[in-house]
Amino acid sequence: MASNKDNQPIYILADNTKRTSGREAQRMNIMAAKLVAETVRTTLGPKGMDKMIVDGIGGITVTNDGVTILEEMNIEHPSAKMLVEIAKTQENEVGDGTTTAVVIAGELLKKAEDLLDQEVHPTVIAKGYRLAAAKAKEYLEEMAEEVSFEDNSMLRKIAMTAMTGKGAEASKELLSELVVKAVKRVVEKDGEKIKVDPDDIKIEKKLGGGVEESTLVEGIALDKERVHSGMPKRVEAARIALIDSPIEVKTTEIDAKISISDPSKMQAFLDMEESMLRKIVEKIVASGANVLLCQKGIDEMAQHFLAKKGILAARRVMKSDMEKLSKATGGRIITDLSDLTEDDLGRAGVVEEVKFGDESMILVQECKNPKSVTLLVRGTTEHVLAEAKRAIEDAIGDTIASLKNGRVVAGAGAPEIELARNLAKYSERFGGREQLAIKAFAESLEVIPRTLAENAGLDPIDVLTELRSAHDKKEVWAGINVFSGKVMNAWKHGVLEPLKIKTQAVASAAEVAVMILRIDDVIAGGPEKMPVVGRGGMPMGGENMPGGEY
Ligand code: ADP
Ligand code: MG
Repeated sequence: MASNKDNQPIYILADNTKRTSGREAQRMNIMAAKLVAETVRTTLGPKGMDKMIVDGIGGITVTNDGVTILEEMNIEHPSAKMLVEIAKTQENEVGDGTTTAVVIAGELLKKAEDLLDQEVHPTVIAKGYRLAAAKAKEYLEEMAEEVSFEDNSMLRKIAMTAMTGKGAEASKELLSELVVKAVKRVVEKDGEKIKVDPDDIKIEKKLGGGVEESTLVEGIALDKERVHSGMPKRVEAARIALIDSPIEVKTTEIDAKISISDPSKMQAFLDMEESMLRKIVEKIVASGANVLLCQKGIDEMAQHFLAKKGILAARRVMKSDMEKLSKATGGRIITDLSDLTEDDLGRAGVVEEVKFGDESMILVQECKNPKSVTLLVRGTTEHVLAEAKRAIEDAIGDTIASLKNGRVVAGAGAPEIELARNLAKYSERFGGREQLAIKAFAESLEVIPRTLAENAGLDPIDVLTELRSAHDKKEVWAGINVFSGKVMNAWKHGVLEPLKIKTQAVASAAEVAVMILRIDDVIAGGPEKMPVVGRGGMPMGGENMPGGEY
């Protein structure tokens, strides 16, 4: 609030606006961001705990996945939301490492707060953090080792590391094999470059059976059954019609002249319907199709005729599956049956209904374009399945990131300790306060091994001391064995992660920390006022009412 010379206060903001500024604003923002980091930090690593989140209507999610927790939590505070955003970026860019990114960001802000207390200006901290982040990327790249496309054993270790401590852990040997197979099946090599469309890997959850009964279908698995038991269970050399309109007689097509008031005419009506359905089925048969996959319903009588013609049919196939089927089999999705020709049919070596436990699925395999696979995940409850699926998604993300970038680091806290050491040395090139900021950045990275130790019930001080001394002896990959509590060579133990997880996590953590630090004024508009309703029921003021945006 400012005053003019008559001492009249001048208000520039609406009276329901909240404003905090200076040190107070920084303190509040940092606190909110730290709270977010605190929330997910207990889930980090193989010994991390899970969170149970109950939504407004009683739905339950049990998860260990950083981004899932933050998304389900419905966070409101603006700077806390910025932390949620970096988890999402990490998820989109790599598909894993979300907790790591958020925990590092929280620690960077915590350390920044100490510096603010020592009267270091936020712009100096920001500059130091930026320098450190850029250098960290260089160090990480120097540290990383190559992974070749052919090195299945290394790729499997990467997939396994992603799943350690997650719901799928018990079957990680099998699942990592399936993940690597699936990813390799769908990658396209463009010279040295590797292209992958993660949508080509479908993860289908199937209740019943243990996770260890999960399988890879080289093709598409539909959670469907044949519509009629008289249909064949297995069709080889399949020619597949993909239809996205219902197989039925539209009432408007029936001659309007038939009046059903007279019972004798009822038979005529039914005969008419039957003959029209026959014609529809004839059209399908004439195209040469022996499999029909329909996005909508199939009339019962049509089902019967289709069965008689030896056609395997399924109805209410999901739209997304129809699109995948189209891509995989080379078939065209047809709306108007009269357009259906042989050229529109998709091809697959075999279409088959297979039993899994009590339920059946239709598998479309040996497709024309084999770059489409389905990982069929089994599990005893919906919660187990959902968490196993998330772990598999992380593993797929890490495998893809490793192949794309071709570079890998070990985990278990080793790269973070190595970075902290190198950055501390790097800080000595700078004077005074900048040096303090770079040092603070270096120390912040130790939050990863410290948290891994804490979550495993180990004494973090002991562990960090041992780790530092191992790294002093040039043991670059010395990390924590969270099971024995000893220092181990993480590389030799097969704890491997894509370089991209680390570079992305450090870069986005630094970015969000700097962004939050530079805010010294929070101006929040109050809730939008309800428009006053005038006599005609129209809101007064209309669309251009001032103060609507904030
Ligand atoms: P994020 O969401 O960041 O991926 P995770 O819960 O998956 O979080 O934990 C990842 C961390 O756990 C990484 O620092 C990784 O190196 C570490 N980690 C994974 N497997 C092991 C292992 N077997 N031993 C020690 N650390 C491990
Ligand atoms: Mg992970």
